[in-house]
Amino acid sequence: MSTTPRPPSVDTLARAMKAVDLPHAILVELAREAIAAGPDEWHTPAAVARAERYRQRLLAPVVNATGVLLHTNLGRAPYAFAHAEHAVNVEFDLTTGERGSRQAAVGGLFASLCGAEAAMVVNNNAAAVMLVLAALARDRQVLVSRGESVEIGGGFRVPDVMEQSGAHLVDVGTTNRTRLNDYSKAFTRKNADVALVLKVHPSNYRVEGFVEDTPVDQLATLPAPVVADIGSGLIDANTPWLGGPPPAWLAGEPAAKQTLGAGAKLITFSGDKLLGGPQSGIIAGDAALVAACMRHPLARALRPGAHVLLMLQQVAMSYLDRTAAQAIPFWRMVATTNQELRSRASAIIAAAGVGDTVDSDAIPGAGSAPGTTIASVAVRVRGDHLAALRHHGGTPIVARARDGFTYLDLRSVREDDDPLLAAALRACVS
Ligand SMILES: *Cc1c(COP(=O)(O)O)cnc(C)c1O
Repeated sequence: MSTTPRPPSVDTLARAMKAVDLPHAILVELAREAIAAGPDEWHTPAAVARAERYRQRLLAPVVNATGVLLHTNLGRAPYAFAHAEHAVNVEFDLTTGERGSRQAAVGGLFASLCGAEAAMVVNNNAAAVMLVLAALARDRQVLVSRGESVEIGGGFRVPDVMEQSGAHLVDVGTTNRTRLNDYSKAFTRKNADVALVLKVHPSNYRVEGFVEDTPVDQLATLPAPVVADIGSGLIDANTPWLGGPPPAWLAGEPAAKQTLGAGAKLITFSGDKLLGGPQSGIIAGDAALVAACMRHPLARALRPGAHVLLMLQQVAMSYLDRTAAQAIPFWRMVATTNQELRSRASAIIAAAGVGDTVDSDAIPGAGSAPGTTIASVAVRVRGDHLAALRHHGGTPIVARARDGFTYLDLRSVREDDDPLLAAALRACVS
C-alpha cells in the first residue's frame, strides 16, 4: 500500500528557500503554492526554482545587446536620472509663492524647442492623441486617411482611440493613395461637421509602390486645424545637436519643428522614442488648442508625475543647449562610430577568450524609421547562449541568436558594460 508523502511545513519550506533574495512574506506565499502543487513541487530544489522564477519577473536593469536601440520590451530609450529625496515645485510658483501650473515649466521648454506657441506633457503619446481628440473633437468629425488608420504596436489603433475619445472617425481616400481633394470633399458632404484633420505617421509599417499621401502643408489649406501625430519625437529634421548632417536612416521621419512649420496646428509625440527621454507624450502647437487640452477633465487623469517632468526638463535643456549628443543615451548610441565599436569588440573578445567581430545591422526600434538600419558591429559566438546570458548571475544580458550563433550588438550597449559582457561570455561559453 502506497502512502501519500507528507508535505513540509510552510515555514520550513520558506526557510529552505531563503537563499533567494525575496522578502520572507513572498517566500511564505511561494512555499504555500509549492505545497499545494504536490510532491513534485514541494521538495527544496523545485521550490527554490519557483522562487528564482519569481525573482526574475521583478524589474531590473538589463544590458541591451539586441542592436534594437529603442527596444519597447526593454523600456525604449534608456535614461539616467538621479534625484534626492526633496520635494519639487511641480505646482508651486517660486516667484509669487502661490499655486502654479504643472505644465508651465516643461511645457514652456518644449514650446521653445519645437517652435510652438505652447506645449504640455501627458503620460505617453497614446494619451496625448486621446486627449487632443476628446478636448477638440468630441461628438464631431475627424478626417483620417485610410492609409493612416493604423495600429501601432501594443494596441494603439487609430479607430479605437478615436472611438474612446468620443470623436467620429471619417475615413478619406484609399489605403495606398489619399489626395487633398479626398479631404476637401469631406467638408462639403451633407452633415459635415469636421473638427480636425488628423495625420498619423504610420511608424512601424510602410506601404511601397503606388502610394501617395497628402503632406501637412497641403492639409493646412483645409478649413479645419491639422493635428499631426508624428510618433517618434524627432525634434528637428536637421539634427543640429549632432553637429553634422542628419544620419541617412532618419530620412522621411517627420520632425516636430518642420511639421509645425508646415502648418500643423498641433503635433503629438512620444518622449521615449527618438526624443530619448522617459515615457511621456508631448502635445505642442497653437496656444488656444493646447489650453483647451489642459482644461479638459482627462488632462488630470493623464498628467505625469514630478520625476517624469524633471527628466523631461533635463532632456529639453540638453537639446536647447546642444549637448543632446552626449547627454542623451540614445543619441550617444547613434553617434558612436563603427571604428569605436570594433575596438570595443576586440577588447571584449580578448577578455572573454571567445568570439569574433562581425558587421551587423542595428535598428532604431520602437517603430521609428521602419525598414531602416544603422550599420553596427557585433561580437559573435557559436551556439545559442541566450538563456545563459540572461541567467549568468550578474546583470541579465539580452542578445539575439540566429543560424546557430549568438550575436551581441554593441551599438545598444553602454561602453561601461563591456567588461560585464566579457565576463558573462567567458562564463557562459566554455
Ligand atoms: C509610438 C506611437 C504612438 C504610441 O505612443 P506611446 O508613447 O507608446 O503611447 C502613437 N502614434 C504614433 C504615430 C507612434 O509612433
